[in-house]
Amino acid sequence: MTTTPAPTAATSTVDAPAVVARLRAVFTSGRTKPLAWRQAQLAALRSLLTEQTEALQQALHADLGKSAAEAYRTEIGFTLNELDHTVAHLEEWLRPRPAAVPEFFRPAEARVVRDPLGVVLVIAPWNYPLQLALAPLVGALAAGNAAVLKPSELAPATSAAIARLLPRYLDPEAVAVVEGAVPETTALLEQRFDHIFYTGNGAVGRIVMAAAARHLTPVTLELGGKSPVVVEPDADLAVTAQRIVRGKFLNAGQTCVAPDYVLAVGGSATALEQHLADAVRDLYGEDPAASAEYGRIVNERHFDRLAALLGDGRTVIGGAHDRAGRYIAPTVLADVSPEAPVMREEIFGPILPVVAVPDLDAAIAFINERDKPLALYAFTESERTKQRLTEETSSGALTFGLPVSHLAMPELPFGGVGESGMGRYHGEYSIDTFSHTKAVVDKPLG
Ligand code: NAD
Repeated sequence: MTTTPAPTAATSTVDAPAVVARLRAVFTSGRTKPLAWRQAQLAALRSLLTEQTEALQQALHADLGKSAAEAYRTEIGFTLNELDHTVAHLEEWLRPRPAAVPEFFRPAEARVVRDPLGVVLVIAPWNYPLQLALAPLVGALAAGNAAVLKPSELAPATSAAIARLLPRYLDPEAVAVVEGAVPETTALLEQRFDHIFYTGNGAVGRIVMAAAARHLTPVTLELGGKSPVVVEPDADLAVTAQRIVRGKFLNAGQTCVAPDYVLAVGGSATALEQHLADAVRDLYGEDPAASAEYGRIVNERHFDRLAALLGDGRTVIGGAHDRAGRYIAPTVLADVSPEAPVMREEIFGPILPVVAVPDLDAAIAFINERDKPLALYAFTESERTKQRLTEETSSGALTFGLPVSHLAMPELPFGGVGESGMGRYHGEYSIDTFSHTKAVVDKPLG
């Protein structure tokens, strides 16, 4: 039997020790610490996004068939919002915060300051290949770090655009882009970083964490999983269906916080299915393959994985697929058994199973028996139900009435819990992630 050898750093095309040593020398020189340098980097990143919008839209279309409007909304514009929020508040976030001094120590002053960590590594995935590379970078630079960015090789056009454009706008001695696949990432992970920020799947998340452990490097793991939607019979099912469909089929379902499956409570399933089918037709027309707004599956491996799930349950709408075009129609499956393959792993594609459950207790038990999700969504008019879901379940985020929206609110932390990840970012939470929060005490000698 022949086996493929595991990738090693030796087969990598990047001189990872040299890249990190160069950035570390720049960080040690103190260049990245002043507020002025940080603001200049953020301004330069803003110029990149506004001057190169079209080139970035083309790259995102080449990789994922994203329309120009969707690419702007979910990647370029999204990152600009994150950036502008950070620029507007950075000075205030970096201000030392006074802390109370107990009577016993007085007179003395105590304060909390945020120190940059040093050289950080950002590893990005392919599904929002621009946003998930640049939004963490905004935090890393705003916090005063040097950074290595490793874009995803599965979105090659976007990876190439990032590698080409970033050095033209940002301080090339403090920010390095390393393109490549497993050998390059493996070579990077052998180096000592001061923080590693990884977005992607949990299997690689474990590799990242094990590599980080060798240097005692802290990690943020932005992972995925199955994010459920609870639909109560008291909800307006037409509105509910429209909002589920918008969140689910964005980027052809390849969104970490996409609704993964629906738990239809107390007999709501039958009516909901029809509303979901109507909402798909409203959004993408009778032939979604012809809709400019509907994306494609990233590659054939993911296409084959998803096509194998199309046989589960009863198809309410969709099911059509075309391997050559990497197209899978927006698909709703009903009467899906909790044991069906489509219910075992994160779907990460345009397939929405509906599972009927008798009541809220059963829905809560269903959620709590499984891995803690990155997001939990619910549609209900009942404050009591909202309170129960808030108190009796654990998830990265909880949203009533509008799936996926929390991601675009920069004052909210974004991150998972348990199998969906650890750590959080966006806005001030990014500054926390990429800083050391240091205690300072100053007691007069007199
Ligand atoms: P991916 O295949 O692009 O991998 C992500 C990164 O890991 C890439 O840069 C890749 O080079 C690197 N990598 C892959 N294998 C590696 C290995 N063996 N050793 C070292 N590095 C390796 O992306 P993916 O993992 O397929 O992304 C999809 C997953 O990411 C889904 O589970 C999704 O839910 C999750 N995700 C989470 C978030 C979030 O913010 N929480 C966002 C997007 C995606």
